[in-house]
This record gives sequence, C-alpha cells and structure tokens, in this order.
Amino acid sequence: MNQARRKGSEPLLVMTGCVVNNHREELEASGKATYVVPNEQKSHIYELIDAHYKGEILPAGSGRDVFGFATASQTLRTRAMLKVQDGCDNFCTFCIIPKVRGRAISRPLPEIIDNALQLLDAGYKELVITGVNIGRYDWEGKRFEHLLNALLELPGDYRVRISSIEPDGFGEGFYELFRHPKLTPHLHLCLQSGSDRVLLKMRRMYTVAEFRQTAQQLRSVVPDFNLTTDIMVGFPGESEEDHLETLKVMREMNFSHVHTFRYSIRKGTRAERMEEQVPEKVKIERSEEVRALAEELKRAYRASFIGRPQRVLTESIGKGYASGFGEYYIPFRLSGHFESNQFVDATPHKLESKADPRLIG
Ligand code: SF4
Repeated sequence: MNQARRKGSEPLLVMTGCVVNNHREELEASGKATYVVPNEQKSHIYELIDAHYKGEILPAGSGRDVFGFATASQTLRTRAMLKVQDGCDNFCTFCIIPKVRGRAISRPLPEIIDNALQLLDAGYKELVITGVNIGRYDWEGKRFEHLLNALLELPGDYRVRISSIEPDGFGEGFYELFRHPKLTPHLHLCLQSGSDRVLLKMRRMYTVAEFRQTAQQLRSVVPDFNLTTDIMVGFPGESEEDHLETLKVMREMNFSHVHTFRYSIRKGTRAERMEEQVPEKVKIERSEEVRALAEELKRAYRASFIGRPQRVLTESIGKGYASGFGEYYIPFRLSGHFESNQFVDATPHKLESKADPRLIG
C-alpha cells in the first residue's frame, strides 16, 4: 500500500474478514481503507472494485450472502476455492469466530456440485474445499464424507484438496476416501497444543490420544500422509511441561508444516478473562522453539520424497521452469518448458537449500 503510494498511484484498499465485523466503525472512521466490507458480504468485492474503476459507487453488497461464489472462482488460475460451510458451533475459548460468523450452516449439496461442475468446466484442475468447520458439514443428513464422495465422482481430470479442518467428528468412511486417486493425501489438522490440560482449557473437542488416532488412521491408508497444523503458543496457563509436550507431539506426528502463532487476547472470548496470562518474553521463546522444530521436520519430510514420482500441477511459469505443487501438497520447481495449469509427472532429485525448500525436478 505504502509502496504503491510512493509510486504515485492511488491504491484501492478493501478490508474484510472477522476484524471488520468486530471493529467496523473504527475501521471506517480511520479512513485508511477505501471500502470496509463485512465478512458475510465479501463475495461482492470484485463487483465493488469493478464498479469503483468504472466510476460508480456501490454499496458493499446486501444481505447475508455467505455462499456467493462468483468471485471465489476467479482468485487463482489453477485452484478454485469451493466454500461448503460457514460458521461454527464449537466455541473454543480463544476464538471469536462463532460470535462474528454465527452458528454452523451447510451449503446445499446440489448447489455445491453445480458450482464444482462450473469450476471444472472453466478449466480449474484443483478444487479446494473451504469453510470454517468443514468436518461438521451436514445438509439434510448428508455428512462431510457424502459431500467428498460426490465431489470425487465428477467427470474429468482434476483433484480435490481439503483445506484446514478440525480434528473431530470423522466417520469411518472418511479415512477410506483417501484411497481415491483424486483426493490429495494432505490435511491441515489444527492441533493447537500437545497438552490435554491446555486443550481442555481451550475447550477443544479432542484429546491428544484422539488426535493421534486420527493421524494413525490416515497413515494406515496413506503411509506418508502429509499432516500440517496450527500450534498456539502461550495460551493462558500453559506451563513449561505443556510446551514440552507440544514439542514431543509435533515430532511424533511428523508435521510437514506448522503454522505457529503466539496467543493474544481476543476481546469477547472466554480466554480473555482467564488468569495466568503467559509473559510475552516466554511466548517468544516458546514460539521460536516450535518454529525451529517445525523447520527441521519440514525439511526431513520433504526430503523423503526425493526420487519418488509425483504428479505436479503447474502454477507459475518462468523462463525454463515451472512452479507448482505435487499431490502431497509439497511445492515443486520443475526445469523445462511447461504451460500453467497442467498435470506433469516428475521425479524430484533434490531439495532446495532455502528456508522454505521446494523439491527440484
Ligand atoms: S473450531 Fe475453529 S472456528 Fe470453531 S470455535 Fe474453535 S477455533 Fe473457532
């Protein structure tokens, strides 16, 4: 934004997300954003920008349009986000989402299938299933497994990836679906902490043992199943022992990527009122330890794919190379001449030496 201003252009800044639902008046009053769009109206953003540059001023949408998808399909060239659900009924003590996004609602299955068919027809080769708590999908008795199954049976050469998911409520049939060649063996399964004591205070819906069992079931179907996760460091009352438990569980789960963040107070949550807030200095030290271990695990996991053929979906193309992701959702850089949005069979021969290393093939 500042860079654009320095270049003399007048940038357009649109703010949306939960923060808008929480602080709309402040954000509007600050005058920093050109438009402040409530979260449930964000599907109107393209329309809004289009109208802005045509010299019209539009109200930022109307009504609760949580499943407006005309815009979502335009955001990436190869991957299309397919939103199937919104809201959450879980009420984790640190989270404001149920308050601002409301209770869980599921999008009708026939509508999702129609939307998926349109996206495949438009040439997208990867459908990414998104929502707030997608594992709790439930439309007229059709659960998440039914939805996945229906999405995997559509005609065409494409793959389906599940985005972030909560580790609770999976039926037996869910695990078996990963035998399907169109379903990528990757889940971002949010652990948050490796200590049952902390999980209980967070009001998470699982124990470490249950999380472990989920991971084992996934890896009994696909041995190298790619598990990534979120770890929250410094939740109120987190002791050094709890933190060490988290590091132990991270290693045991062999996460290939950990999104770590330090707990910070969210106004209006139950954790806001909890005693034993962890000092910032301790949070920084712990998050550094989590980050260092996460880097080690990532490198080892990715290196284990050297010499093993993968099916890469090309995304960005440079001079003599292409970047993309393999089916396990590991980033690749391929040498040669390719087009974007193509499946390419490749065998990586080494790993880059960078902090976020890609496989080289
Ligand atoms: S399950 Fe996720 S969205 Fe729901 S309350 Fe917990 S953290 Fe928030």
